[in-house]
Amino acid sequence: MTDTLRFFRAPVRAISDVTPSFRRFTFGSADLADYGDPGFDQRVKILFPTPTASLDDMPTGDDWYDRWRELPDERRPVMRTYTTRAVRNDAGEVDIDMVAHDVVGPASAWISEASVGDEVLILAPTRSHTGVSYGIDFVPPARSENILLAGDETAAPAIAVILEQLPPEARGVVVVELPHPADAEYLPRHDGFEYHVSAREGDATRHTHLLTAVAECAERLVPGGRGADVEEIDVDTDILWEVPRTAKGGAALKSAPLYSWLAGEAGAIKTLRRHLVTERGVDRRAVAFMGYWRLGRSEN
Ligand SMILES: Cc1cc2nc3c(=O)[nH]c(=O)nc-3n(C[C@H](O)[C@H](O)[C@H](O)COP(=O)(O)OP(=O)(O)OC[C@H]3O[C@@H](n4cnc5c(N)ncnc54)[C@H](O)[C@@H]3O)c2cc1C
Repeated sequence: MTDTLRFFRAPVRAISDVTPSFRRFTFGSADLADYGDPGFDQRVKILFPTPTASLDDMPTGDDWYDRWRELPDERRPVMRTYTTRAVRNDAGEVDIDMVAHDVVGPASAWISEASVGDEVLILAPTRSHTGVSYGIDFVPPARSENILLAGDETAAPAIAVILEQLPPEARGVVVVELPHPADAEYLPRHDGFEYHVSAREGDATRHTHLLTAVAECAERLVPGGRGADVEEIDVDTDILWEVPRTAKGGAALKSAPLYSWLAGEAGAIKTLRRHLVTERGVDRRAVAFMGYWRLGRSEN
């Protein structure tokens, strides 16, 4: 394990339902005073216990990944990806906002049943982490006239942190599709951003708002663009993930009229990326897209 990335044993200190779909877990311990906070959409791995897999069985040394994979299925803690929502080192506290979705996977089962005192392991940077964090995928050009942040509820925690941390002079558009009308309150306001936040009416309308609103915004933000070919990705076999960077990890472009950050269900994100790059001609070096989960498939 590197000294800038390690496992934190994280007991739940508090649970609050911020809105109908977002359950905030505040983890607290003296150890979490060392949890790093590089910012924006910092992703972390969470290891959840199951009825047959204890966190005590989890290997945490340098070779943890191979040893974790070698564990028998029933003794292997479940690993999922989440976003650090807030860090308060002085209090030894970390907030992670989790959506308890209907289709019960191991993480959503834990989310709906967990109580104060329950524990997870979080694989995250430490405070001594310096330099580029490859767990951050929001890497806009230094001069971006507009920023498009688009996604579903799983992307909302990352979008929330990005909005809180962008400077006041940043300009852009937020397009988010959420399960419940009252979830709209979840997103912090940034005066430089236009908000297109809508609740779907059940699974039958999943992605409708996201796809329609991004297309409408793109038409205004990149009028008359010329499309470019992009390679198609099979979201059922390949990972949908592209974050344009230089070899040193910085933004791939110095300036761009529009920088787009798209995250959420892989099928929807693939369609958004195709629309922006192939149909509207947005420079692909200014489009980061991440399939956070795939309908009908577990993250395993
Ligand atoms: C970089 C990154 C950051 C993320 N940040 C967050 C975050 O901050 N908060 C958060 O809540 N999620 C976040 N996610 C998404 C989360 O990791 C997935 O939703 C995860 O698959 C949930 O695990 P599970 O065990 O509940 O379901 P899985 O075992 O992975 O899947 C079981 C079933 O549930 C379905 N499913 C999975 N997720 C959802 C969903 N959200 N809605 C409906 N059905 C679903 C799958 O399609 C499958 O059919 C993030 C993902 C990534 C890659």
